[in-house]
Amino acid sequence: MKKLWIPGAIVALIILLAVLAPVLGLPDPVRQDIANRLAGPMDGSPLGRDEFGRDVLSRLIWGARTSLSVAFASAIIAGIIGTAFGLIGGWFRGLGEILTVRSMDIILCFPPVLLALLVVTLMGPGAGTLILVLSVLYLPGFARVTYAEVLSARSLDYVEAVRALGAPTGRILLRTVLPNVAGPVLVQLSLAVASAVVLESGLSFLGLGVVPPAPSWGLMIRGARATMEQAPMLLLWPCVALTLTILAMNLLCDGLRDAVDPRTPATRKRFRVVDRLLPGLLPASAPRTDAVLDVRDLTVEIATPRGAIRPVQGVSLAVHAGETLAVVGESGSGKSVTATTVMGLMPPIARPVEGHAWFGGRDLLSLKEPELRALRGGPMAMVFQDPMSSLNPVHTVGAQVVEAIQAHQKVSSSEAWAQAEALFKRVGIADPAKRLRVYPHEMSGGMRQRVMIAMAIANRPKLLICDEPTTALDVTVQAQILDLLNELKRETGMGMIFITHSLGVVSEIADRVAVMYAGQVVEQGSVAEVFSHPLHPYTRALLAAVPEGDEPPQGIPGIVPPPHAFPVGCRFAPRCKFATAACTEAPLPLEEIRADRQVRCIRWHELTSTEAAA
Ligand code: SF4
Repeated sequence: MKKLWIPGAIVALIILLAVLAPVLGLPDPVRQDIANRLAGPMDGSPLGRDEFGRDVLSRLIWGARTSLSVAFASAIIAGIIGTAFGLIGGWFRGLGEILTVRSMDIILCFPPVLLALLVVTLMGPGAGTLILVLSVLYLPGFARVTYAEVLSARSLDYVEAVRALGAPTGRILLRTVLPNVAGPVLVQLSLAVASAVVLESGLSFLGLGVVPPAPSWGLMIRGARATMEQAPMLLLWPCVALTLTILAMNLLCDGLRDAVDPRTPATRKRFRVVDRLLPGLLPASAPRTDAVLDVRDLTVEIATPRGAIRPVQGVSLAVHAGETLAVVGESGSGKSVTATTVMGLMPPIARPVEGHAWFGGRDLLSLKEPELRALRGGPMAMVFQDPMSSLNPVHTVGAQVVEAIQAHQKVSSSEAWAQAEALFKRVGIADPAKRLRVYPHEMSGGMRQRVMIAMAIANRPKLLICDEPTTALDVTVQAQILDLLNELKRETGMGMIFITHSLGVVSEIADRVAVMYAGQVVEQGSVAEVFSHPLHPYTRALLAAVPEGDEPPQGIPGIVPPPHAFPVGCRFAPRCKFATAACTEAPLPLEEIRADRQVRCIRWHELTSTEAAA
């Protein structure tokens, strides 16, 4: 905060003088007194008189009024419109991006002075014309800065997490994205104001801005230039005013940028004010089986420059109330793509091209975005891997839980905060009333994940999808989180899908397991059966890779093939020590060997029989 005091005081003093100019009892800034032309400091004129005998101090202060009015007005207009353009272009892309951000390139093609000349010619000089010219000139800067920030923010986990809560687009942009682009936009605003002061002076100096005899710093420099040999001080005063204003503005904005970042502990209090203000902007909120979620033959296609790929193909899995289904496999096996497709969180280039995902009697894959939004964060919720990046760093954790509650329940703010406190207590956060008021960076990883779980269960979901929620945590905290999820599942009766690459985690939390490899389910069944009698060579290899006792784990040779290079037949064949020519001839079906037990391997029976005989 110390960084703000000196530049803040200077800027405040300049603005105050400019605002109070009419009541300071200054001489008329345009009244000429030829008899005292170029006079030095004298009674009533401490800075002397200019080439027309006008009081220099009065013109300096009235000039500040003109310069700052033009600069602030143009920067604020450009800031509001440009930020809105950047938000729209960065979030919606496509036509929205072309109309809002790409169209700004046309403005950038014009040299600023040429553009000013064009507008002045059309509209005539004056402060209004200057504001218009400068607003247009600064518009692309704001649009581009915001656009770039939104592009990076939209892929952050906490933005995905808010989407998963079912928040409408307007709320996501206002509450989640905008606060995170506020820092760069504020810096841009400061640069625009400082630059506008200089440009206003430059254009007025050229006769394209403020019309004489009205006072402005640019006109003062222009007038002083002609008499600089007789009265050099006339040039000094407006130059000092310009330099001091720009320097103070830049320092102030550097300080402000740090001050608006709540990750700076000293400034987090000011964001609590924003947290209290913004909620007012936000609005409140043919089954085939008895499963909570029944995914059938899901195939997802993604358009890439190398052509369409199918990272998930023919995936079928189901989870029932009070049950946990673990989805396990190496990176690239399609676990997360399956989960995010079910939640409707995949980017537009990815789309489900086959299959169904039945939830509450409706096929999630055929629902429109508003219908999915109403479900996400309500009846179905998701917990992501990294709680630090899944939580918005510029809001308190309590505000984020309250937002999750109010997105689906029409409750008052005080009721939502009371619910949030109860949720914190339920997920084992000590001193919940106090912890609601802290920011994500003030909590440990385990506590942050508890907050994410509190948000996910805030609206009593029937289905909870956990995408590797313990991967970023140490072993002790991981065990605590698994215990908590198990307790919550028992209490609420929700169905849970738990995505992981760890078989140890599967054994602790799951009732059933689906093993995925290269976009397909290769084996599925109860955890006890799959672990004790694995049928697929890949499942066996995964189990053999788990360290046990003194025996060294056995790695699986090779890597999961990328989607554009999936083999035609068995996708595990290049890594399978049991592969034969028959394995690679044609795509393999998922064979149902009995109720709730499936495997995708043509040699499973032969291999297990040989093993039993041995
Ligand atoms: S089908 Fe053949 S290659 Fe594939 S897992 Fe079975 S034995 Fe191995």
